[in-house]
Amino acid sequence: MLSLKKSIFETTPEELSAWSTAKGLAKFRAAQLNQWIFTNKVYSTEEMSNIPKEVKQDLNSDFDWQFPEITSRLEANDGATKLLLKSEKGHLIESVILRYENRISLCVSSQVGCKMACSFCQTGKLGFFRNLSAAEIMAQFALAQSIVKPEGRFVTHVVFMGMGEPLDNYDNVIKSVNLMIDGYGLNPKNVTISTSGIVPKLLTLADDTKASLAVSLHAAREDLRTELMPINRKYPLSELKEALLHYQAKTGRRMTFEYILIKDKNTSLKEAKELIKFLHGFRAKVNLIPFNHHPGLEYDKPFEETIRTFQKYISDRSYPAPVRYSKGLEVSGACGQLAAKNMDSLEASPTRGAAYERPTPSL
Ligand code: SAH
Ligand code: SF4
Repeated sequence: MLSLKKSIFETTPEELSAWSTAKGLAKFRAAQLNQWIFTNKVYSTEEMSNIPKEVKQDLNSDFDWQFPEITSRLEANDGATKLLLKSEKGHLIESVILRYENRISLCVSSQVGCKMACSFCQTGKLGFFRNLSAAEIMAQFALAQSIVKPEGRFVTHVVFMGMGEPLDNYDNVIKSVNLMIDGYGLNPKNVTISTSGIVPKLLTLADDTKASLAVSLHAAREDLRTELMPINRKYPLSELKEALLHYQAKTGRRMTFEYILIKDKNTSLKEAKELIKFLHGFRAKVNLIPFNHHPGLEYDKPFEETIRTFQKYISDRSYPAPVRYSKGLEVSGACGQLAAKNMDSLEASPTRGAAYERPTPSL
């Protein structure tokens, strides 16, 4: 149900303090409220033991505290929890909680669908439906916090690697990452925006947030990258490199590139050489991700030996190149692929069809 109230999940500490002042509350009250939400990640006034009843009533009537409805929850035996959340109009949003020994990462979605139409990506095959609001992005964060809290843990890392292209929903993503960092105190190094490379946005990113950046490269040769990622036609590698060098000079940070290894596509020695040529001038790390197969996608994963040879070529030239296997594979594949799978089945349903009207992907 669409609420006109401001979502508590997207409320900043400053806004909560201003609300508190407007209600005529003492200063220490704002500090208590901020502690409940931003330190303890408590999203129910009932649990706020030191807050008077009237204040709780005001909080409940002035803010929207409703978590999104969980349509499905899948537990993988490697510690991943995949959540499929229902948003307005029945649109589905995917979030994945990834538990590691010393940290918990949350993979969030920034859009329903995506305009970029990458040929290896299930979300890309869906097309674009809409941007998520900052409240919807932050609701994924708050919900995940409430799930891991009973385990005595908090979400410490967030990656924008679910559905959607975060830089195509720039303002809402910037607002969300900044709230995670400035409000919830996450280390900027642990909040990562992953992008297919929207050049004009990359030019302003360093001014707008301290969050980290990962760039989905997947090929370092113009025509191959255009084949895999049509956005390369609009923002070719040459312009992308220029924008990223500007970003690196501004932030002083090492760049992270993502490179999906696809059998017989981008894993030859020729492509490895192109990658090294592209990396020249960057301090960079390359995450190598063996392609995750899904019905409807025509590609395959390379042989293990090909993966090792490619990795060795890159790391021998002093660029760290870890191979990253997606967690939670047995339940439904990589981030972004659970919702895509379910949206496909919903889209086919005549009763839900209207909600999934698909505009032509374009930028
Ligand atoms: N749109 C952004 C973020 C979402 S995609 C981007 O493209 O960076 C998040 C990650 O999932 C990307 O690195 C993408 O390349 C990867 N991905 C998509 N489909 C995949 C597949 N079939 N196998 C492995 N990784 C995949
Ligand atoms: Fe969009 Fe990223 Fe998938 Fe490409 S890989 S279609 S940019 S979500």
